[in-house]
Amino acid sequence: MTTPEPGATGPSPDGLRPVDVLTVVSVEDVTPTVRRVLLAGTPAGVAAAGPTVSLLVPRVGDPAPRWPRVAKDGRIVWPEGAHGVSLRSYTARRQDPARGEVEIDFVLHGDGPAAAWAAAAAPGDPIGSAGGGPLGDRPAHRLLLAGDETALPAISRILAAAPDDTGGVALIEVAGPEEEQPLPAPAGVTVHWLHRKGTAPGESTLLADAVAALDPFPEDDVFAWVAAESGAVRTIRADLRGRWGLGRAQHHAIGYWRRGRSMSPAD
Ligand SMILES: Cc1cc2nc3c(=O)[nH]c(=O)nc-3n(C[C@H](O)[C@H](O)[C@H](O)COP(=O)(O)OP(=O)(O)OC[C@H]3O[C@@H](n4cnc5c(N)ncnc54)[C@H](O)[C@@H]3O)c2cc1C
Repeated sequence: MTTPEPGATGPSPDGLRPVDVLTVVSVEDVTPTVRRVLLAGTPAGVAAAGPTVSLLVPRVGDPAPRWPRVAKDGRIVWPEGAHGVSLRSYTARRQDPARGEVEIDFVLHGDGPAAAWAAAAAPGDPIGSAGGGPLGDRPAHRLLLAGDETALPAISRILAAAPDDTGGVALIEVAGPEEEQPLPAPAGVTVHWLHRKGTAPGESTLLADAVAALDPFPEDDVFAWVAAESGAVRTIRADLRGRWGLGRAQHHAIGYWRRGRSMSPAD
């Protein structure tokens, strides 16, 4: 199988299309552990790279990664042999197809191909996008949002899109006050920052405890959106389905990472 040229467009005769190759424009540390990477791409490539994005992350310092290609049904078709590219899910914090810009906040958690790539990212570096997906949210009169640093880009998009009369609570677990970020929200949504105070990410019960301490919202039009370490999300999901009585259409609770395990054991 041949590897498509970076930047090549359109499907090949076998129906596979090249991935969108994005290029680092600039890098900014927004907090001690969150690095914001501004990427440039074609308008179509940027429009497709979110809100959640399947990133194809090259090894640090690899100037010519062997990108996979994408089938019509979205399946990723890998080149044979070693390719040095890892598939990871991220969130486009901001997308501007007209300007050809997409912004991604990477948590520099110290381990893993994506965190290592972001830690070393410099202008001109390539990264691939195999396309995007939805955040899984829906508008509701009362929102319950709960997440850690990895969920903050999604929570900021959900709050920015929420109608002014939305009420509810956003619970965000971070290492400490230095990790808080400005988070514009409708006046009726209360934002609580929960500080781990030295407890390692993935070992704290702060988020699940904070949800457990809330009284379920009395209204019918409630939606809960939760993303964090898988174990914490499992506990919260059980609370939402049990005590809160939320049906499947009323919540979206997804593990964004797994303590002690790579998100793609194959690489
Ligand atoms: C839909 C979706 C959207 C996401 N959006 C974002 C986003 O916008 N920003 C973002 O930073 N992450 C986001 N994530 C989470 C991100 O995909 C994972 O953190 C992923 O594991 C990072 O890949 P990696 O190669 O750095 O580490 P991996 O190779 O997957 O893991 C290596 C090691 O690092 C540990 N690890 C992974 N993530 C963390 C963490 N956050 N804190 C502490 N230890 C960790 C693992 O437990 C493992 O031991 C998202 C996940 C999903 C499913």
